[in-house]
Amino acid sequence: MTAIRYDVVIVGGGHAGAQAAISLRQERFAGTIAIVGAEPELPYERPPLSKEYLAGEKTFERMLIRPATFWAERGVEMILGRQVTRVDAGTRVIGLRDGEEIGYGDLIWATGGEPRRLTCAGHQLTGVHSVRTRSDVDRLMGELPRASTVVVIGGGYIGLEAAAALTKLGKSVTLVETLDRVLARVAGEPLSRFYEAEHRAHGVSLMLGVTVECIEGDQQVSGVRLAGGELLAADVVIVGIGIVPAIEPVVTAGAESGNGIVVDEGCRTTLPNIYAVGDCAAHVNRFADGARIRLESVQNANDQAVTAARNIAGGEARYDAVPWFWSNQYDLRLQTVGLSVGHDKAVVRGDPATRSFSVVYLRGGRVVAIDAVNAVRDFVQGKALVAGGAVISPDLLADAARPLKELVTG
Ligand code: FAD
Repeated sequence: MTAIRYDVVIVGGGHAGAQAAISLRQERFAGTIAIVGAEPELPYERPPLSKEYLAGEKTFERMLIRPATFWAERGVEMILGRQVTRVDAGTRVIGLRDGEEIGYGDLIWATGGEPRRLTCAGHQLTGVHSVRTRSDVDRLMGELPRASTVVVIGGGYIGLEAAAALTKLGKSVTLVETLDRVLARVAGEPLSRFYEAEHRAHGVSLMLGVTVECIEGDQQVSGVRLAGGELLAADVVIVGIGIVPAIEPVVTAGAESGNGIVVDEGCRTTLPNIYAVGDCAAHVNRFADGARIRLESVQNANDQAVTAARNIAGGEARYDAVPWFWSNQYDLRLQTVGLSVGHDKAVVRGDPATRSFSVVYLRGGRVVAIDAVNAVRDFVQGKALVAGGAVISPDLLADAARPLKELVTG
C-alpha cells in the first residue's frame, strides 16, 4: 500500500522541476504537488556555478530560484536529498532509493544529467572535479587555497568559464581540448578563435588537438599525462566533457529513449501520464532542422516546464520556443539565439578586435543563429530573424552599421 500520493510529482529540483511547479500554480492548478530531488538544496540557478559562484563573487543564497517561503506558500512539498530509482507507470508509483514509495497522478521527469566522467586511469583520484552541482563546486573551492596549478579538460562553455574564473583567482590554468578549436560543437570558427585569443591573453595555456592519456597521482592528483607523453602538472583537475542524461528509471519503466527520453511537442513521454522536460528530454526541434535533440540551457528547461505544466493543467501547449543561451567569461557576455549546428555560412558583424561583435549563421540562405559578444542589441534584434528564418544577404548582415531590426523584412 502506497503511503503518500500527490496529484503531480516532479522528479528533479533543478531549473525545469522548479519552473514546472511554479507554472502549475500560475495555471491555477489546485492539486497537490511534490518535488523529489536528489540534491539537498532548494532549487537553485546552476549557471553561476562555473561563473560568479566559483569566482567567489556570488553567495549561494542569491542563487536560489525562489526563497523557501515561496514553496511553502504555494503548497509545493519539497522532498529533498532523495533519489528516485524506480518508476512503475502501470500503478503510477515511484520508488526511492531508501525504499519509500510515492504515488502520482502525473509525473514530470526533470532530472537533467550526470557529468560525463573520464574513463582513463586516475579519473577517480582526489582533486579531479566535475562542475554540475553546488556540492561539486564547494568541494573544488575547498581545495583551491592549496592549489596553484589547474588543468581543465574540455573546451566547451563550462570548461572555458571555469578557466576564466580560476584565472581571475590567480591560478595558473591549462585547458586541454581534443578537437582543433574550443566550442567546436556549438559555435562557428570565428567565435572559437576569438575566445581562444581571449583566454591566451588572460594567461590561460590553451592546448588544442590533444588527448588525455591518464591522470597521474597517488590518491591525490599530481598531473595530467597527454597521449604524446607530455605531463602537465596539476594540483586540481576540472573535467568538463558534457553530461549523460539521468533517465535510467524511466527507461527501465519502458519509455522510448535514445539520447534522452523521447517526448512529443507537448513534452509527453511514450508512457501514460509521464512528461519529461529540460536537459533530459529528447524533442524534435524545428530550429535544429527538425532533428530530435536535447538542449542543455535554462531557456529550454523553463519553456519545456511551462509546456508540460499547461498540459497537465488542462491546456493544449506545444513546445516551439526559439533557443537562447548565454555565457560569461572575463568581461565578455556572449548571448546566443538559435542553433548554429549545420550552418553553411558564418558572417561576422563588427570587428572582434573591439570585443563587441556578432556572428550570424546561415543555412541554405536563412538566418539560423546569432552569437552576440558584448552586443546585446544584435541579440535582441536578431531573435526575430532567427524565429522567422529570414533570408538576408551576407553583405547586408555584415554591415554592422545597419541594425538587424531594419533587415527583418529583407
Ligand atoms: P538540472 O538543473 O540539472 O536539475 C536536475 C535535478 O534532478 C538535479 O538536482 C539532480 O540532482 C536531480 N536528479 C537527477 N536524477 C534524479 C533522481 N533519480 N531522483 C531525484 N532527483 C534526481 N545554461 C544556460 O542557459 N546558460 C548558462 O550560462 C549555463 N551555464 C551553466 C553552467 C554550469 C556549471 C552548468 C552545470 C550548467 C549550465 N547551464 C547553462 C545549463 C543549465 O544549467 C541546464 O540546462 C539546466 O540546469 C537544466 O535544467 P534541468 O532542470 O533539466 O536539470
